[in-house]
Amino acid sequence: MVEKTKFLLDENEIPKAWYNVQADLPTPLDPPLNPSTKEPIGPDALARIFPMELIKQEVSRERWIKIPEEVREVYRLWRPTPLYRARRLEKLLKTPAKIYYKWEGVSPPGSHKPNTAVAQAYYNMKEGVERLTTETGAGQWGSALAFGTMLFGLKCTVYMVKVSYEQKPYRRVLMETWGAECVPSPSTRTEYGKSVLKEDPKCPGSLGIAISEAIEDAASHENTKYSLGSVLNHVLLHQTVVGLEAKQQMEIAGEYPDVVFGCVGGGSNFSGLAFPFIADKLSGKKPELRAVSCEPRACPTLTKGIYTYDFGDTAAMTPLLKMHTLGHTFVPPPIHSGGLRYHGDAPLLCKLTKEGYMEAAAYHQNEVFEAAKLFAKAEGFVVAPETAHAVKGVVDEALRCKETGEEKAILFNNSGHGHFDLAAWDAFLHGKLVDYEYPKELVEEAIAKIPKV
Ligand SMILES: *Cc1c(COP(=O)(O)O)cnc(C)c1O
Repeated sequence: MVEKTKFLLDENEIPKAWYNVQADLPTPLDPPLNPSTKEPIGPDALARIFPMELIKQEVSRERWIKIPEEVREVYRLWRPTPLYRARRLEKLLKTPAKIYYKWEGVSPPGSHKPNTAVAQAYYNMKEGVERLTTETGAGQWGSALAFGTMLFGLKCTVYMVKVSYEQKPYRRVLMETWGAECVPSPSTRTEYGKSVLKEDPKCPGSLGIAISEAIEDAASHENTKYSLGSVLNHVLLHQTVVGLEAKQQMEIAGEYPDVVFGCVGGGSNFSGLAFPFIADKLSGKKPELRAVSCEPRACPTLTKGIYTYDFGDTAAMTPLLKMHTLGHTFVPPPIHSGGLRYHGDAPLLCKLTKEGYMEAAAYHQNEVFEAAKLFAKAEGFVVAPETAHAVKGVVDEALRCKETGEEKAILFNNSGHGHFDLAAWDAFLHGKLVDYEYPKELVEEAIAKIPKV
């Protein structure tokens, strides 16, 4: 019999409920705090910018949360996504390890992000919201939300960091094709944007500024809410559709992973793959399972940050979140994995890492692209620079298996394609990528500015 390369599910096998890891945590998650009172934030404070259903999901401890039929209907456009066995990569590496990956690059926006964008657009539509605002760096999240809102008839305003807006036009074109309006940030649309432009008319923008503009826009307009593409509990919850499918597919392959890898920016794609497996570790069924977050050495949140309360944004406007952080004033060097340049990480992923259920590793961008090039050579797919971090983790693990002779089953989340990141690939291929190690003194400086709780 020919050995299988792809493990596919039928459309009716798309999960009917998301898995909520909060149900199985040994102790509850520390709540977000109001920065002035240092008291837990109540649902009312969040209701101005988020719909009620998502606020409920954020704090829910129910193990299973039903996926609305309307959302599953949209998921059918590209889900279930295939699970691949990377046989050609195994051969190229001459490893006895068995490498599997879940391929999220088949969605219309090309990544895992629409798994939550579609769900968020749906709940907002149900509650009568007419427009969503958000921020985007290079445009992956903005384009996913543009896609999601289009499907449920909502308007969408995306504040895009001005340098990216000018230098990386293609995701903007995608957003506009799907009917969203894309505004270079800082803009004159908001009081905050105007104040920034008054100080510095040539300001290139930052994710922090764009977040502040998107929140102000939502808070100051009727029937308008704000949407976030990673970090929050409800976002990670929606992404578990990835891991739940992967679990069914690994079963068809007759396998359970020894180790799971994923790249971590805010933590949503990796948590989405890993949490349904971590459930078995939390219950004691699979105590030996390992889950490894892969991050850039230039923004080493989990490997070098500290676990404490900090602001979620650079402008110090959001509630305080308990997480690994490099300090909200931390400015990451200009590496090409835009999606991984965040000073913090999802509180759920951080807690599980702090308590030893998950681990983390950090890599330089050149070695990361080197691994992704091997992957492209073996498997064909040219992955996103973010995803390439997970590929590096997997290749290293497979090479360790080659030394020890272990036939480990390795699984990773192949979070997206790199077709809009070819300028980064070009820089790598022509030896123009610089490796940054974040200087210890600068980490200490930013950490000194974290609020005391
Ligand atoms: C945005 C993005 C990431 C990083 O975000 P997470 O929330 O950590 O998943 C990773 N991969 C791709 C392809 C992305 O677009």
